[in-house]
Amino acid sequence: MDIDRWQKRLQELPLGNLYLYQEVGSTNTEAEQLAREGVPPFSLVVADAQTAGRGRMDRIWITRPGQALAFSLILYPQAEVHPEVLGRLSGMVALGVAEVLRQSYGLPAEIKWPNDVLVEGRKIAGILVEAHWEGGRLLDAILGVGVNVHREALPDDREFIFPATTLDDCSGEKASRLDLLVRILRSLLRWHNRLAEPSLIETWNELLAYKNQQVSLSSSRGVIARGELRGVEGDGSLSLLTERGEARQFLSGEIRLRLVDRS
Ligand code: ATP
Repeated sequence: MDIDRWQKRLQELPLGNLYLYQEVGSTNTEAEQLAREGVPPFSLVVADAQTAGRGRMDRIWITRPGQALAFSLILYPQAEVHPEVLGRLSGMVALGVAEVLRQSYGLPAEIKWPNDVLVEGRKIAGILVEAHWEGGRLLDAILGVGVNVHREALPDDREFIFPATTLDDCSGEKASRLDLLVRILRSLLRWHNRLAEPSLIETWNELLAYKNQQVSLSSSRGVIARGELRGVEGDGSLSLLTERGEARQFLSGEIRLRLVDRS
């Protein structure tokens, strides 16, 4: 990563401070530290490689040097922010990424609730939103994004629990990581302005993977529900029509979503 070139280009965007690294443990961890120190809103941490990239529940996220995008954006939602808005943040980020993949690269990107972006059923991007609280007061929210860009982003010898892919594989071309980053950031800034608007949930629903299909939801203790996936509600929760015909809503927390194989 040519840090000077990336820095110059990113300065064109209405962001806070820019922190660009060749390698960090995790951009989210770095961003959390910076947020505590009180950097301006929309400060950005970008790394060419992560040695301890994280997914949800401390699962690993692989970011190999020069192959992927890994960044974290720091927000300071107002202390009086409505919890409903907070539940929309993962969707907002997934939407920002999926929209760019659709509009700029012509890919049929979809959102696997709550936090992954898929292309043709394979994970191309992962999102980790982490909010930090002090008592009942929200201090900051870190929006972490990892996108698999070049083919070497995915090690050959590694099988993920969920199939993965890269932008280059999907588009058949070699993408510019810097162009992709700038596009995603512009999209995130736009969606952030519309965080409380119904259009966010409407668009999230339009891009939702597995709509009207049978899915299962599970936690670390096993399957907690099965049913037909109906859509996302205003607070970002997932609505299922269960096998018993009940409509139930689930907040993301530690839940994992899977398509039920009917074959
Ligand atoms: P799941 O994807 O299984 O539903 P999740 O949404 O909680 O669960 P994430 O937190 O988004 O998963 O990502 C962590 C998981 O993603 C890891 O357990 C690993 O299997 C997988 N993974 C790690 N690095 C990558 C990568 N670069 N591309 C795709 N998948 C990855």
